[in-house]
Amino acid sequence: MSLNAPELPYSRDALAPHISEETLNYHFGKHHMGYYTRLVAAVDANADLQGKDLVTLVKSTSGGVFNNAAQVWNHDFYWKSLSPKGGGAPTGAIAAAIDASFGSFEAFKEKFSAAAAGQFGSGWAWLVQDASGALQITTTGNAETPLTGAHRPVLTCDVWEHAYYVDYRNDRAAYVKTWWNLVSWDFANANLA
Ligand code: MN
Repeated sequence: MSLNAPELPYSRDALAPHISEETLNYHFGKHHMGYYTRLVAAVDANADLQGKDLVTLVKSTSGGVFNNAAQVWNHDFYWKSLSPKGGGAPTGAIAAAIDASFGSFEAFKEKFSAAAAGQFGSGWAWLVQDASGALQITTTGNAETPLTGAHRPVLTCDVWEHAYYVDYRNDRAAYVKTWWNLVSWDFANANLA
């Protein structure tokens, strides 16, 4: 089996008080692990899928296999987009890229927050980099991911209700506001072309 079990890059209580241990017990322990368990079962049941790595599965499947593969990849990317040592103003190359693409960090923050809050139903808000090097904000529904498109993912915010309902109930905007306290600029810098 070439698919590694999901790992959190920190302990389940490391994002508190912004995102609680209880949320991670469900979000990582149940939802993310559930996508992984269902993906492994689907791969085990289909010889054509065996031996393929996760990115290949995301890019080459559809339906239920795609949904579980993409959600495994999206969640791995989401955990890395957050850090107990994150937040604050961007540093390094991502800071300059944000200024060049959005005018200022404050303008970017406002635009990204509005996109995340405004995504109808389950999905994801993304910061992506296009072929010219410019940054863009995009959203995807359900399991859809920029990985299948032309743009390079840089950061993501999961806006499925399971990401925030334990801590913020129906107040997605409050969760998105707290996401800024955790965002990992180191991860963003590592993802730039
Ligand atoms: Mn999620």
